[in-house]
Amino acid sequence: MSQDTSTKAANAKAKPAKDTSDNGASGRGAFGQDAPGQTKVDATGEVIGQRLSAYLAPTMKESPAEAEIVSHKLMIRAGLIRKLSAGIYSYLPMGLRSLRKAERIIRTEMNRFNAREVLLPSVQPAELWKESGRFDKYGPELLRFKDRHDRDCVYGPTHEEVITDIVRREVRSFRDLPLNLYQIQTKFRDEIRPRFGLMRGREFIMKDAYSFDVDDAGADLSYRSMYQAYVNIFTNCGLKFAVVEADSGPIGGSFSHEFMVLAESGEDALAFCDKCSYASNIEKAKTGDYVIYDVPEAPLEKVHTPGCRHVPQLAAFMKTPESSIIKSMLFEVEGGDPVLVLIPGHREINLIKLKNALDGANPTLASPEEAERITGVPMGFVTPVGAKVKILADLAIGRMNNGVVGAGEADYHFKNAKPGRDFAVSGYLDLNVAGQGDPCPHCGAPLALKRGIEVGHVFKLGTKYSLAMGAKFMGPDGNESPIIMGCYGIGLGRTVAASVEQNHDKDGIIWPMALAPFQVALLPLQVQNEKVIEATLKLYDELTDLGVETLLDDRDERPGLKFKDADLLGLPLRVTVSEKGLNNGQVELKERESREVTMLPLETAARAIKDSRDKALA
Ligand code: ATP
Ligand code: MG
Repeated sequence: MSQDTSTKAANAKAKPAKDTSDNGASGRGAFGQDAPGQTKVDATGEVIGQRLSAYLAPTMKESPAEAEIVSHKLMIRAGLIRKLSAGIYSYLPMGLRSLRKAERIIRTEMNRFNAREVLLPSVQPAELWKESGRFDKYGPELLRFKDRHDRDCVYGPTHEEVITDIVRREVRSFRDLPLNLYQIQTKFRDEIRPRFGLMRGREFIMKDAYSFDVDDAGADLSYRSMYQAYVNIFTNCGLKFAVVEADSGPIGGSFSHEFMVLAESGEDALAFCDKCSYASNIEKAKTGDYVIYDVPEAPLEKVHTPGCRHVPQLAAFMKTPESSIIKSMLFEVEGGDPVLVLIPGHREINLIKLKNALDGANPTLASPEEAERITGVPMGFVTPVGAKVKILADLAIGRMNNGVVGAGEADYHFKNAKPGRDFAVSGYLDLNVAGQGDPCPHCGAPLALKRGIEVGHVFKLGTKYSLAMGAKFMGPDGNESPIIMGCYGIGLGRTVAASVEQNHDKDGIIWPMALAPFQVALLPLQVQNEKVIEATLKLYDELTDLGVETLLDDRDERPGLKFKDADLLGLPLRVTVSEKGLNNGQVELKERESREVTMLPLETAARAIKDSRDKALA
């Protein structure tokens, strides 16, 4: 990571000297290419002091038009990342430093919680994916290709198969377990809509861990320790986050949690109960009885409803609330028979819940033409009354006795429809998307909906992969059993981007100390002034000797521009060295977040700055 002199020389060559003034400066810096104030490296080889003129940190006034959210805009403008193609980004030095910070925090906690680091290949033979059954199931996000021998390969979007393959070969006995292995590695998922910069890339860096246990109790313990490690990691990253229950597929259970950074721009909708601390991804969120029906039963009656095609229209025409309209949707099911799904008119269908109800088979809404072909009913007038297909209904439908449903012919509906009496339902299930104010499934208090960015995910897998791929261990009684697995992921780039999304103002990024590319921006304002140069270099040496990561803005630029760039880049502490301050023997310390300014005596400034740094890290 340390920058050697040849790179710097190359840098200097690439950009010819802008300023060759009396102090013998060359390159972009005002202090001279060989002058004091060079890159400093600490005992571990990490760069701890860096001159901006010899770096690659291109700032921009405007962000690209395609950048929709603030973190994407700021990360481009501050010169942290650059796009290569859709969903594929390069990290420039400054961005890479933040990524490395996140990496170190993650590694520390994973190591502390007894996970062992490995590094698995990104290119994987398709055979493994055929064994697990995911080669066909994973869909177009899986990048598939052939090598020169015409063998099917994939670029790993995740590594359950590879790690299970290692464990089935290397683990024999209960004595080898429990085991937790993790890596920090590049994944590729051919996302249909890569966007938001690092948030949803096609290529991205993930920490993925996999636990292996002999029984459920052990697997739960592994799960809980990873959960705790994640709480520590995101706390140490300086993020405000929430942990929510997440969908865990058709097998169900509560053994999946997502770590969510709360932000308006988040792609996930989350339901929170303030009263009992229930928190869930909307994909999974259950609710209590979210609608009460209290109208007495009446006989089914056909009504002429000319032109009423949509729920609001129909509700107005029938003088009934939208919740009493029954939406009938025909779904085709991957590898199975079509189903008719009923939900109240004011709610949306939750496709994840429906998929789970279909044992994991993918449902697709039938086109009007397909629906007509399957049901024999004209387009748009599908009805459960007399339907020949299987019917699944949301729980609320089961409580209804005066629903409005299609009549199976143009411009007619039935009113007073009662499930069970007027049509048969194979199953009443929770199939709707929870809404703001719905009763909490645990305590009945109203749920609040918020948005979040999924930065981490912990998942109890059970024996899905160990059974499919034959990962077994021998117990003390000599019997073989499948290993119980868990998997645990964190997106590194997404975590850094989420931090920017959560911590910024109109001028730029506000890094938490833990993820900041450097801790201090050192700004000499008059770079031709001997006294300013001398004081700056003294501070630079003292700070870096004290272990404070310092970025020295040695560019011969206007103070206004230096301040603007410093705000944009958002290092937590800014130290300004000016003629005026030095006349009083002082330098200025400004905190990026609070904007608080303190004048420090030059003699003791480095100590005081280090103390501020330490306080922010504590
Ligand atoms: P999402 O629902 O956002 O698509 P996922 O649930 O498919 O993500 P996991 O398989 O749980 O993702 O991956 C673990 C972690 O990897 C996620 O919590 C997230 O931080 C990160 N991650 C997943 N997909 C991406 C992506 N396309 N770009 C950046 N990070 C990602
Ligand atoms: Mg996930």
